[in-house]
Amino acid sequence: MIINADLHIHSRFSGATSDKMSIETISLEAPRKGIRVVATGDCLHSGWLKEIKQCNVIDDGTFELNGTRFILSVEVEGKNRVHHLIYFPSLCAVEEFKNKIKNKSKNLETDGRPNVDLDGTELATIAKDLDSLIGPAHMFTPWTAIYAYYNSLEDCYGDLADYVSFGELGLSADTDLADRIKELHRLTFLTNSDCHSPHPVRLAREFNRFEVKDATFDEIKKAILRIGGNKPILNVGLPPQEGKYHESACISCFTHYSLEEAQRRHWKCVCGKRIKKGVKDRISEIADYKEPIHPAHRPPYIHLIPLAEIITKAIGQQNPFTQTVTKRWNELITAFGNEINVLIDANIDNIAKVTVPAITEAIQAFREKKVVIRPGGGGQYGIIVLNTEEIGTQNFNLGPKDKQMTLFEY
Ligand SMILES: [Zn+2]
Ligand SMILES: [Zn+2]
Repeated sequence: MIINADLHIHSRFSGATSDKMSIETISLEAPRKGIRVVATGDCLHSGWLKEIKQCNVIDDGTFELNGTRFILSVEVEGKNRVHHLIYFPSLCAVEEFKNKIKNKSKNLETDGRPNVDLDGTELATIAKDLDSLIGPAHMFTPWTAIYAYYNSLEDCYGDLADYVSFGELGLSADTDLADRIKELHRLTFLTNSDCHSPHPVRLAREFNRFEVKDATFDEIKKAILRIGGNKPILNVGLPPQEGKYHESACISCFTHYSLEEAQRRHWKCVCGKRIKKGVKDRISEIADYKEPIHPAHRPPYIHLIPLAEIITKAIGQQNPFTQTVTKRWNELITAFGNEINVLIDANIDNIAKVTVPAITEAIQAFREKKVVIRPGGGGQYGIIVLNTEEIGTQNFNLGPKDKQMTLFEY
């Protein structure tokens, strides 16, 4: 069977998250996005674990509520601020992991994404002992990721580098960028939302499609390891240009710089503040190849823009959280079941019967890749342009800044 899975989210017990992030809400929202399995995130936190335990038990490592399956996961911040994702086979493994790290963490019970005073090798050693999967989260993010501080998997995970089976691409990267690095060819790439809110513009904005025999932890583990016929068959994510750290840019005034220019200026902006190295430039620094070379097992990557954003842009709303956007989004989901159907599969004539022409045209433009994106950088998300006059021009000269609509800034 084929399933869609979002394997990195945060509960309301993590910092800066929506208080709507309950298991109940996630279980109801996921199917509307076309998602069958969600990784719980934050599973070391007692409050969140209690909520997970209220779900129906499918097996040791799989839980279900309202038809949505959950597997146990956490993101921890290790030494050097590197973020790691860990997937556990059972509640016992979660408890044991917690026991082993409790003296190394001061905020285990107060933050769903705890800080742990252990490096990659130490964390991977514990994960391996407990038959859990571990890998770097949003690998290229300039603040809190493996390639921000290390030049290779081995630098971070030492002898345990071979045990690392996956790497999360993060919002600012895709397969074409990451497969320029040779050591990553061996890994399964995960595309996850890392969302802090259940809003449809956040949940499953990136997800994975797996070929499995059942929607369970064991089967997903096999898919990540690519054994027993299980495998990832698709990565779905935002165009990397939309990511907050795609290009090198100033963290204060958001002026963009080329790598050479930034180096020449010693990473200091004309305004005096710091230029943050973008994912694109970081990858170029460590890349083994000028062009990506995809290993045979690498599935295709589809760039998807959340439907709520397409609607926002199409009908000229300020942000995707307005009642009007929600109403239009609900109309389409009610008619076609879930977001993936609307964005990719549904016949455009049928979409036209359900919604207004501007939204139909925008979905059509998205399908035909007539979408212009002004790249993000310095912490500012990229900007999508669906304006018909600008469609097809494929340049980033989008006129005066106050006339541009920034979909991601709210
Ligand atoms: Zn993270
Ligand atoms: Zn600046």
